Amino acid sequence: MEKIIEVQHLSKSFGNHEVLKDIDFSVSKGEVVCIIGSSGSGKSTLLRCINLLERPSGGRIIYKGENILDDKHDVYAYRTKLGMVFQQFNLFNNHNVLGNCVVGQMKVLKRSREEAEKVAMKYLQVVGMDQYINAKPRQLSGGQKQRVAIARALSMEPDVMLFDEPTSALDPEMVGEVLKVMKELAESGLTMLIVTHEMGFAREVSDRVVFMDKGVIAEEGTPEQIFNNPIQARTREFLKRI
Ligand code: ADP
Ligand code: MG
Repeated sequence: MEKIIEVQHLSKSFGNHEVLKDIDFSVSKGEVVCIIGSSGSGKSTLLRCINLLERPSGGRIIYKGENILDDKHDVYAYRTKLGMVFQQFNLFNNHNVLGNCVVGQMKVLKRSREEAEKVAMKYLQVVGMDQYINAKPRQLSGGQKQRVAIARALSMEPDVMLFDEPTSALDPEMVGEVLKVMKELAESGLTMLIVTHEMGFAREVSDRVVFMDKGVIAEEGTPEQIFNNPIQARTREFLKRI
C-alpha cells in the first residue's frame, strides 16, 4: 500500500522533557489508524508534529517521498494536504456555517466563492449540516459544531484527516452523531489518523491501532490483536483501566 505519511525516528522535547522518543510510524492511503494511550503519553504532540503545529526536535517526516522537515521543503503546501479536527472545534465564531467551510478554500486554495460554496455544500451534506448554513457557531450544539468542523476540514480536500479526540469535549448524548459521521468517512475510503478514547469506535473502524505510552509506540496491530491479545503488559494495564 502507498504510504502517505511516514515518520522516522521522530523526537520532540519541550525543554529537557522528551515527549516523543524515536517514533517510527506510517499511514497508508485509505487506512484508518486510531492512536490510543493515557493522557500525557504524547498523542497530541505526535499529531501536532505531523501537521507541523509543533516543530519536531529530530527525525524525518516523509510525505510523497520527500522529507518535509528539510529547509527547502514547502511546508505551507504540505499543511494544506492535512485536515485537522480538534477537541475544541476551533470554528470561526464570526462566520456562519457556510462561511466557516468557505474561507479556507478561498484564501488558501484560491477557489472562487461559487466553487468554494459548491464544495462546502457537498461536505455539509456528508456531515448532515446542510440545513444550517446560515447559523452561527454559538447557535449550534457541540455535536453540530464538530460536524461543521469536519466539513470545513473536508472542504479543503486533504490527503489525510487528523482528529485529536474529536468527541472528548462533547456531552455524552452528542458523541454518537460525530462518531457516526466519522465511521461513514472511514468506510468511504478516506485516510484517517484519529486520537480517541472511544475504544468501541476504535475497535470497529480501525485498520490498525497504535498504543502510545510515555512518548513511545509501545504496541501496534489490528484491533483484534490490540484489544483481544495485547502483547505488552502496559497495553493490558491501559485497557483494563479504561
Ligand atoms: P496526550 O495528547 O497523549 O495527552 P500530549 O501530547 O498533550 O499528550 O502531551 C505529552 C506531554 O508533553 C505532557 O507531559 C505534556 O505536559 C507535554 N507538553 C505538551 N505540549 C507542551 C508544550 N507546549 N510545552 C511543554 N510541555 C508540553
Ligand atoms: Mg491530547
